[in-house]
Amino acid sequence: MADSIYSHRAVFLDRDGTINIEVDYLKNIKDLRLIRDAAKAISFLNQNKIKVIIVTNQSGISRGLFSIDDLENVHNELKRRLRRKGAYIDAIYYCPHHPDEECLCRKPKDGMFRQAAKDFDLKLNKCYVIGDKLTDIKVANNISAMGILVRTGYGRLEQNKLREGDIEPAHIAEDLCDAVKWIIKNINRGKND
Ligand SMILES: [Mg+2]
Ligand SMILES: [Zn+2]
Repeated sequence: MADSIYSHRAVFLDRDGTINIEVDYLKNIKDLRLIRDAAKAISFLNQNKIKVIIVTNQSGISRGLFSIDDLENVHNELKRRLRRKGAYIDAIYYCPHHPDEECLCRKPKDGMFRQAAKDFDLKLNKCYVIGDKLTDIKVANNISAMGILVRTGYGRLEQNKLREGDIEPAHIAEDLCDAVKWIIKNINRGKND
């Protein structure tokens, strides 16, 4: 298949506060709630044949708050609920480590993103990262992708920190759906070739 403007691209999505409503250390599917229009946003990316990859820090595992089985349970349920609304996730990468472990995968480190780039033949500088924390924007900068801060989850609080810091999101969006609309426009205008 010939390359299109959508080839080699992925949108990396943070999970908590970006796709689902932030609760501290989500471990039970009874606490899983999708953010409004999150499924619609993801299906819009699917329709445009842009890979959708979740990249999430889950230190609750190394903190002993939940198990890998619990996490996979949540992920299966998340995928199921999205699927019901016509939205498909290409892959989920998670970091199970504690910040003190200084692993190479915990965001804002780029380990999970580099792995995804290999697995899916991506050009990271054509990719986007959407998240509710400045770490999501930092990792976008680290991989030369475009970072979009959503104002859901911790987003509004994090936005206030922007004044002090030197990291600059490419865009600030109300929510995931708003972010995705901006991305599609951005690609179609050839802003990120
Ligand atoms: Mg988050
Ligand atoms: Zn890690």
